[in-house]
Amino acid sequence: MGLMTAGQYEESLRKLNLVVYQFGRRVENVVDDPIIRPSMSSVAKTYELAHLPEHEDIMTARSHISGKKINRFTHIHQSIDDLVKKSKMGRLLGRETGCCFQRCVGMDALNALSIVTYAMDGKHGTSYNERFLKYLEYVQENDLICNGAMTDPKGDRSLPPSKQPDPDAYLHVIRETKDGIVVRGAKAHQTGAVNSHEVIVMPTMTMRAEDKAYAVSFALPSDADGIVYIVGRQSCDTRKLEEGVLDQGNILFGGHEALVVFDDVFVPWERVFMHGEYDFTGLLVESFAAYHRQSYACKVGVGDVLIGAAQTAAEYNGVEKASHIRDKIVEMNHLNETLFCGCIACASEGNKMAGGTYLVDVLLANVHKHNVTRFPFEIARIAQDIAGGLMVTLPSEQDLRSPETSKWLEKYFKTRADIPTEERMRVLRLIENLTLGTAAVGYLTESLHGAGSPQAQRVMISRRINMLEKQKAAKKLCGIDIA
Ligand SMILES: Cc1cc2nc3c(=O)[nH]c(=O)nc-3n(C[C@H](O)[C@H](O)[C@H](O)COP(=O)(O)OP(=O)(O)OC[C@H]3O[C@@H](n4cnc5c(N)ncnc54)[C@H](O)[C@@H]3O)c2cc1C
Ligand code: SF4
Repeated sequence: MGLMTAGQYEESLRKLNLVVYQFGRRVENVVDDPIIRPSMSSVAKTYELAHLPEHEDIMTARSHISGKKINRFTHIHQSIDDLVKKSKMGRLLGRETGCCFQRCVGMDALNALSIVTYAMDGKHGTSYNERFLKYLEYVQENDLICNGAMTDPKGDRSLPPSKQPDPDAYLHVIRETKDGIVVRGAKAHQTGAVNSHEVIVMPTMTMRAEDKAYAVSFALPSDADGIVYIVGRQSCDTRKLEEGVLDQGNILFGGHEALVVFDDVFVPWERVFMHGEYDFTGLLVESFAAYHRQSYACKVGVGDVLIGAAQTAAEYNGVEKASHIRDKIVEMNHLNETLFCGCIACASEGNKMAGGTYLVDVLLANVHKHNVTRFPFEIARIAQDIAGGLMVTLPSEQDLRSPETSKWLEKYFKTRADIPTEERMRVLRLIENLTLGTAAVGYLTESLHGAGSPQAQRVMISRRINMLEKQKAAKKLCGIDIA
């Protein structure tokens, strides 16, 4: 098939037989569900842009297996240029959708597995890489969305998987047959899960010998027998069920996450990419995390939208020329472009791994993600400062349309004579959406916890910093002997 169109993607989802629950009920038609559909539209953008000549260079690549043109989201990075384009693609799509477009987690899982399956085969004489490449070819050929499933529910955080009161707190192998394995457990917070054709499971942390059953990685069709999805709530999500669209803020796009339960699910051997090789779980987690921390280029694109909205709100209020407002807009841009520097830097300083896959610079990817845990919060704070209190006290779209109240809203929420009150309301709702509503899930809390909570990056930074080199530099300059 090669490159799917957005329309073909939507149709392909309709053919899936997913078991999805939301608000305590089974969702029979996932694609047209009003809460879920905006998130499908965001993923569809990754298909749509790949067909536009002006974005072709960023959105597509040549497969290193087939030589065919493929969507970059299914590509294994073959150069520094590929890594840099991946960062630019994230910013582009963040700006286009103003939210999470969900496709990066699968791309990062594929790239991490390409490194780790090769490394495992080198040490253990297994043939995981060959299996993985066959799977990859299938994903590329059919232009599929893969849900990257790493995070287990984890139960009591002070205990390792095998010591948990409930052994299923981490996903594990419960049985092995001649045809494959049977797994049980769950993956939490799964981005874009019900918009995906495939799910790629990876261990959530470095495992020890006693946790061997938990050292498992595999891929399955998203509608495989025994997989159940329970869609997560987002703040203000039921606004999508109301009459009118204005109060949604972002009237086109959204994201979603789900708890994905694996209720004794069979995985055939050809889809198993790690089975007991606990000594490679650390490499898999570290490579995936580094790629995914780079992927937070998306926050720069969403930041572009928020900065644009803040500038518009300032103009609508007639304060855009005030020196403190101009300075705040500069600060927002400074923070946002600093994030962009980080995701470009970790890509530009990337390295070729054994097997040929390019990996971002791990230290810089962690520094970038650590900035992501902070800067969007400050950008959001400034946006709310500029927006004014009306952003959270604004009556509803229905009040704007009602003959009883419309005249009062039009009269008292009017600012500049040339700005329709409705447009002012729209931009305030967008800022609300990005900083408190459905999109704040991706722009704020996910910036904090996604791809690992802040402490995970601090651990990696302390591990990767060459302290000896710094001490040597200092000692040399002040005349202390360097042994
Ligand atoms: C919106 C969103 C989307 C996401 N999408 C995906 C996805 O698509 N795929 C995926 O696999 N994951 C996804 N994640 C999961 C993300 O990687 C996790 O949220 C993150 O790793 C933190 O895990 P947790 O949420 O279980 O937090 P917790 O583990 O509960 O952490 C809470 C706090 O406790 C601390 N803590 C935890 N364990 C310990 C410990 N042992 N010792 C000391 N301190 C500890 C943490 O540092 C943190 O400060 C997503 C998360 C969010 C919020
Ligand atoms: S939060 Fe960003 S990196 Fe993660 S899947 Fe969504 S768009 Fe991609």
